[in-house]
Amino acid sequence: MTFRILILGGTTEARELAGRLRERPDLALILSLAGRTANPVPQPVPVRTGGFGGVDGLAAYLSGNGIDLLIDATHPFAERISAHALAASGRTGIPLLTLRRDAWQRVAGDRWVEAGDIAAAVAALGKPPRRVFVALGRQELRPLETAPQHFYLIRSVDPVEPRPALPNADFLLDRGPFVHDDEVALLESNRIDAVLCKNSGGDAAYAKISAARALAIPVVLVDRPPAIGSVPLGTVAEMVMAVDHLLPPAEKRGE
Ligand code: NAP
Repeated sequence: MTFRILILGGTTEARELAGRLRERPDLALILSLAGRTANPVPQPVPVRTGGFGGVDGLAAYLSGNGIDLLIDATHPFAERISAHALAASGRTGIPLLTLRRDAWQRVAGDRWVEAGDIAAAVAALGKPPRRVFVALGRQELRPLETAPQHFYLIRSVDPVEPRPALPNADFLLDRGPFVHDDEVALLESNRIDAVLCKNSGGDAAYAKISAARALAIPVVLVDRPPAIGSVPLGTVAEMVMAVDHLLPPAEKRGE
């Protein structure tokens, strides 16, 4: 018997998990992407793209495609899809496991200011003009307009459209993983004196945090929303073990 798993993705961890699980002949995997990125990174398993149409749509997809397990491996800040996953799992009875990488933790030398949301983070930059490196994702830049006195260097994977109304901003396209020395060079060459980003966790985007530390630059960090539902697993390895536990015994799968 094949055990069918839908992975809600859009993260490095979702891709890694799919790569680990695809080696298993008893599993059929589908990875779901929201479709936000114009040229998504190739995935190691079949992909479906685009929203499901809310909880109803996701529940219908799970039932209609014979899914046995739903894995939410979306970004820690992707709140809506995680809430939908929990509700759709409750409605259909299809089990849900959540993979959520750990948040970054402050270490000696970090000059962090933590903020509850992006608006509060922008306010925390203060009144005097600064030169701010922004890595928030291109869809959440509107609050920057409340503080037009700053210069912003805004990095995103895809172009920001429409651009926020800012008198003094540069836009930079790049995709991680980023490395420490490059991030130091970027901050120095643009005379950046503050970094504004989300506490996304993980390795791929951490270099801006270590670069800010090396240069003694403050980081205004948007805190994560609380996790929804059951306690999330923090690593791909833990998720692989959890999937093993959920699988029916080998004899029932005809092995
Ligand atoms: P969101 O606000 O939680 O979700 C908005 C809507 O997008 C959902 O209601 C759903 O539409 C659709 N959606 C989201 N993730 C989906 C997925 N994996 N497969 C199919 N549909 C999905 O999410 P978001 O913050 O816009 O993030 C979108 C995607 O980008 C996520 O997959 C996430 O992992 C990834 N991402 C997000 C961030 C971030 O900072 N938020 C950063 C990096 C990557 P329907 O209601 O129509 O089903």
